[in-house]
Order: sequence, then C-alpha cells, then structure tokens
Amino acid sequence: MSKKVLVIGEAREGTLRNVTFEAIAAANIISDGGEVVGVLCGEGQLEEMGKEMIYYGADRVTTVANENLKTYTSDGYGQALQAVIDDESPEGIVMGHTSIGKDITPKLASRLESGLISDATEVVAEDGKIVFTRPIYSGKAFEKKEITDGIIFATIRPNNIPAGQRDDSRMGEVTEKSVEVGNIRTIIKDIIRKSSDGVDLSEAKVIIAGGRGVKSEEGFEPLEQLAEVLGGTVGASRGACDAGYCDYSLQIGQTGKVVTPDLYIACGISGAIQHLAGMSNSKVIVAINKDPEANIFNVADYGIVGDLFDVVPKLIEEIKQM
Ligand code: FAD
Repeated sequence: MSKKVLVIGEAREGTLRNVTFEAIAAANIISDGGEVVGVLCGEGQLEEMGKEMIYYGADRVTTVANENLKTYTSDGYGQALQAVIDDESPEGIVMGHTSIGKDITPKLASRLESGLISDATEVVAEDGKIVFTRPIYSGKAFEKKEITDGIIFATIRPNNIPAGQRDDSRMGEVTEKSVEVGNIRTIIKDIIRKSSDGVDLSEAKVIIAGGRGVKSEEGFEPLEQLAEVLGGTVGASRGACDAGYCDYSLQIGQTGKVVTPDLYIACGISGAIQHLAGMSNSKVIVAINKDPEANIFNVADYGIVGDLFDVVPKLIEEIKQM
C-alpha cells in the first residue's frame, strides 16, 4: 500500500550529507509508490538543498528556517520537526543514523508514541511488508524487523543503502514553513573540529586506521600519506587513542564511530571485538599486522603479515605508480 514518507535531511556547513540521499532511497522503498517528502531545518537559504533532495528522489520538500536552528539542538529541531510531522501526518519517517539522528529520532518517536527501528543496513519490500535488517550484538549478527502498527520510523546506517541516481530534471516544490522555535535550553557557541581533514568517518569511502602498533603520534604520518594517495581519511582504534597517539574523534568501534567504507586498511590493530563492532561491515578489509595470529586477520579479506612501517611506504610507492 502506498504511503507518505518523510525524510529528515541533514546538512553540514551548507552541504547535504550523503546519508540524506540514502534515506531518500530507503523512503522510496517504504513509500511503495506513494509520496516522499523531504524536510530540512536550518538557517537562511535552504531552497537549493531542498532542490537537491528532489533530484535524488524526493517528491517535494518543506524547509524550516529560523535563527534558532543555525546549529542542531534537540529542543530546536524537535519543535521544528514536530510541527512538520503534525502538518504532514506521514506514515513513515526516515533519517540517517548519525549523531543527530541518534539524538532526535527516539525523542520524536516517543512523542509520536511510535516504534523506531534504528541503524538499519537494509530495507526491502517483501510480500507487502517493509522489512529492515539491523545489526545486533555489536555487529556479530543481524536481525530482520518490521513495524506492524503505526508510523514506520527508522534510522539508516550511512554507506549501506545505495542512494538513487541524481536527476536534475526532476521537478518538485520546495516550500518554506514558518515555525516558532524558542525556549532552547542549550546554546552552541562554537564548534571546534578535531578531525584533520573534516571528512566524516561514518561517510568515508576509504579509511586507513591505526592502532597501538603505530607506536606514536608521528607513527600516523605514513597512514596519513596512504590516505592521501587513496583519497581516504584516517581512523584509529581505541588503543591508539588511549595511548595519546591521536584524537578520540578518530576512534572506531563499539564506543567510537561505526563505519562501512568500501576499503578499510587496519594497520597495527589487533582486532578486539569492540573494534570489530565498528568496522567489520566494511566492504573490503585489509589488515597489516606483524603478528600472524592477530584476530584482525579473521575478518580481513586481505592480510599482510609484516611491519607496518615497511609495508605502508611500499604500498604508497606502488599506488603512486598505478
Ligand atoms: P593492541 O590490542 O595493543 O594491538 C596492537 C597490534 O599492533 C598488535 O596486534 C600488534 O601485533 C600490532 N603491531 C605492533 N607493532 C606493529 C608493527 N610495527 N607493524 C604491524 N603491526 C604491529 N577498542 C576500539 O578500537 N574501539 C572501541 O570503540 C572500543 N570500545 C571499547 C569498549 C569497552 C567497554 C572496552 C572494555 C574496550 C573497548 N575497546 C575499544 C578496546 C579494545 O578492547 C582494545 O583494547 C583495543 O581495540 C586495542 O587497540 P589496538 O588493537 O590498537 O591495540
């Protein structure tokens, strides 16, 4: 049965995050030929980003611009999104499983008294049902879930559900909705980014991750060079973060970021279960470790037993010659 599905878009510094387009693709599966309505909150001009959501498969977009929505707060976005949901009465809502998605969707679901399927890695329409796949037990297993009653509300893991093809000839209306946004209890005064190149790990296509085996802050330099030649970004194990070799914003794992890049190169990482929880769904995993018994080799597609300080420079040289 066709449904109206709302997609909560997310932008960073004026650019839509890729997971927004993936959420539109998921919404199109859920809507079953119904209507996909994008919603964008922020400050200033949101029309161009609204049009981009239409190019990627939304039928129309509602924007809510307000100075109190300049940065994300659950109070501000909660009020704006609630107003749009009240207006639209959607049968489905989809958002990325990002920091903001993880914060706002349980609150909205609770207000709507609906269920919430979080961190879905797949959405399929099967015999008239919408079935979501999501990881459980830190990614050791997957479960299939459906919402049988009320709003189909879900967050999707970035980099898992392919976005549709951009089509700039798609037409649709971008309308601005005025919402009173007040009583914000948190004021964000400044945002200081720690990640060196600003690439969001959860959306990166190539990640070169370093562990305690890199031995020092300087030990990350060859990894950064490898990331540069491959057009990727650097991540880390908690071992490397705890040792002070890098910032915690780079941590991947159960208590860090969950990533699903096309290529994950683990350098000097043993492969503790808590680390695997954050990266084992990467499409291709390469492990470089001098211990042939290291657990990381159990999840790796390609393993190189050796000293990372020998192997990584050789890889860089080889790739440069390609
Ligand atoms: P180690 O286990 O010390 O491994 C270092 C590896 O480097 C070894 O395999 C060694 O053979 C190899 N090596 C050394 N020198 C070289 C060299 N020159 N060349 C090649 N290989 C070399 N960990 C996470 O990563 N993310 C998390 O989110 C996370 N959350 C946690 C949550 C909880 C509640 C707990 C209890 C733990 C958590 N941990 C997490 C920690 C986790 O258990 C491990 O301690 C951590 O992942 C180990 O990091 P590591 O692999 O870098 O270090």
